[in-house]
Amino acid sequence: MRGLLLASGTMSLCDDLPLPTARKGWSRVRVLQAGICATDQALDRGYMGFCGVPGHEFVGIALDGPLAGKRVTGEINAGCGTCELCRNHDSRHCKHRTVLGILQHSGAFAEQLSLPNENLVHVPDSVSDSAATFVEPLAAALHIADDVDLARHKRALVAGDGKLGLLCAHALALHGCNVTIAGRHPERLPLLPRGATLVSGWLEASAPKDVLPFDLAVDATGNSDVLPRLLALVRPRGTIVIKTTTERPTSICWSSLVVNEQRLIGSRCGRFAPAIAALANGSVPVERWIAARYPLAQALQAFQHAGTKGTLKVLLQIS
Ligand SMILES: [Zn+2]
Ligand SMILES: [Zn+2]
Repeated sequence: MRGLLLASGTMSLCDDLPLPTARKGWSRVRVLQAGICATDQALDRGYMGFCGVPGHEFVGIALDGPLAGKRVTGEINAGCGTCELCRNHDSRHCKHRTVLGILQHSGAFAEQLSLPNENLVHVPDSVSDSAATFVEPLAAALHIADDVDLARHKRALVAGDGKLGLLCAHALALHGCNVTIAGRHPERLPLLPRGATLVSGWLEASAPKDVLPFDLAVDATGNSDVLPRLLALVRPRGTIVIKTTTERPTSICWSSLVVNEQRLIGSRCGRFAPAIAALANGSVPVERWIAARYPLAQALQAFQHAGTKGTLKVLLQIS
């Protein structure tokens, strides 16, 4: 089959990739569309040393399994199925998991992929193909609400006005937060949830010192320098949620975290059902963020476009 292959640090389009084989308890999916995300761009730069087909934000048609013939998207962590975590429905933390297009698992930038049956989720007609490619990142953004009592964290700051930052801002607004987003793209104000504020200069070394502290700060920058700055912007007993992995390590001074009794929470993937519901009722207008769609044959150009400054979402039309 045709797909985009990342091998020895080089991305290339291949026509002879092996089709996924039928496997008990797994479904094969014909991919319709897939979104290029910052993680894919990081993999391309060598993050995780990934070798294989990248891509984890997708919509497709299930070819077999219980949802055969239906339009689906899928949770990206595939656990071993037998360990205690997997038996308790927490395969996303299984020690032996693979992760679609990220860790030892062929991803969505190819004509077909395969996932365990229980990972696949039916996409209702009210969610378009393009919107469905946002289910995975929106689920990750909405996951903040699983770990933080947002009724007690109304004043929220989102660091980063990229795709994930915008999704986090919408996720928090859906839960009734007052959202300020600190970024570098003032032109993105119309893409924010109603009532949100967009500020610039807050993530730099020269950030203002007299800001009224926030209850909650969410890091969606992928920049390891930002975390120490966020600590100073959050009130005592407030919460900082880290949504992005970073390619470089960081060092922070624990003292202010301890003295102010702030909580630091790492946060990754979320449940798909709330994300599909939010897209189905139109509460997060993701289609306005799509900068371009490219056929799979032009996947390398698509990656180039996705990497140009100021570009939000670039989609690949796979089949
Ligand atoms: Zn992603
Ligand atoms: Zn397991």
